[in-house]
Amino acid sequence: MSYLARVDPEIAEILEKERLRQTNGLELIASENLVSRAVLETTGSIMTNKYAEGYPGKRYYGGCEFYDMAENLARDRLKQLFGAKHANVQPHSGTQANMAVYFSVMEMKDVLMSMSLSQGGHLSHGSPANFSGRLFTVKPYGVDPETEMLDYGQVGEIARKEKPKLIVCGASAYPRTIDFKAFAEIAESVGAYCMADIAHIAGMCATGVHPSPVNVVHFTTTTTHKTLRGPRGGAIMAEPDYAQAVDKAVFPGMQGGPLMHIIAAKAVCFKEALRPSFRDYNRQIVKNCRAVAATLMENGLRLVSGGTDNHLLLIDLTDLGITGIDAENALGRAGITVNKNTIPRETRSPFVTSGLRIGTPAVTSRGMKEEEMRFIGDRIARVLKDITNTARQAEVKAEVQAMASKFPIYPE
Ligand SMILES: *Cc1c(COP(=O)(O)O)cnc(C)c1O
Repeated sequence: MSYLARVDPEIAEILEKERLRQTNGLELIASENLVSRAVLETTGSIMTNKYAEGYPGKRYYGGCEFYDMAENLARDRLKQLFGAKHANVQPHSGTQANMAVYFSVMEMKDVLMSMSLSQGGHLSHGSPANFSGRLFTVKPYGVDPETEMLDYGQVGEIARKEKPKLIVCGASAYPRTIDFKAFAEIAESVGAYCMADIAHIAGMCATGVHPSPVNVVHFTTTTTHKTLRGPRGGAIMAEPDYAQAVDKAVFPGMQGGPLMHIIAAKAVCFKEALRPSFRDYNRQIVKNCRAVAATLMENGLRLVSGGTDNHLLLIDLTDLGITGIDAENALGRAGITVNKNTIPRETRSPFVTSGLRIGTPAVTSRGMKEEEMRFIGDRIARVLKDITNTARQAEVKAEVQAMASKFPIYPE
């Protein structure tokens, strides 16, 4: 970092502050993770220097021979990881991956059916605040109000009534297993395309820890930076019949030059994800999440759907009489980073909410196991049960820092 410190001391100082924040605190945001040193090194490499519009072997610029090798490796490894027949690794983000699939099979105003944002879906699945909600006619489905789980009978009924062009499954805040086969069957029965967005659970789908939608639905989109532990970015896998349409929708349809340093880092990430230890890692994420869930429930907290099958859980704060924003801030003062989240039957605005979302990918990447998860669950409960007690928050912060220091983010 010596160059940066000399050229731009202000940014160098911000980077150092952020390094300390990541080191001393506990990152429990379900969509976040820590990349490996190899991925980190690649994202900061000279692969950022060049334009490579087009695809390997068909570029619009000269000098792309090594970029072609990197992108081919990324595509082949992604296909191998999921057993996919076609892969596009160019989307800049998960939202861009979704946009490309929409543009590959839908016209403006076509009916898009997806999980509503307030019940666990994602902005890019049709929120009115997002392009997807502005360009398409969105028909949402949600969870059963009693079980707080997906009700496939209800999804089927909505599909038969609304006749969607595309059904999207996948979520940002759903703690249970998703039955992709059920979605594919519903889509087939109404002549719709089916897209699975596995942004959150991609690592688990790749390793069999969660069922995979690849070769079950027409399109699978993902981010590469959540449970896959790669650089920030997106990717698409598609059935061969739609390969060309998807590639055209990404470039020239909605992006210019690909971020080739990120694509090279995606290749590194997929190689790491192909190792047997990546399955153990994803299994541990789920075990860890169950351990946090059990500790919270032992402390009397209510979890949406009564538990978790994956890497995240949702706490319903209603009985504690506190809001999501107040809980997020109190835990922040205790060195625990989480995010407020709407819950099924939400009564508050998305800026306030009645819930908290907690996820274990990042702490699992640091090597923490069930014992640390019980510590974390216990400290979360302590803070939430006495939310105005700032002395307790300071006390927990010191304990958190002492525990976290045993698990460096980049061990020597
Ligand atoms: C995180 C997420 C995305 C998109 O992420 P970007 O921030 O655009 O990379 C898309 N879909 C789901 C379900 C997500 O959780």
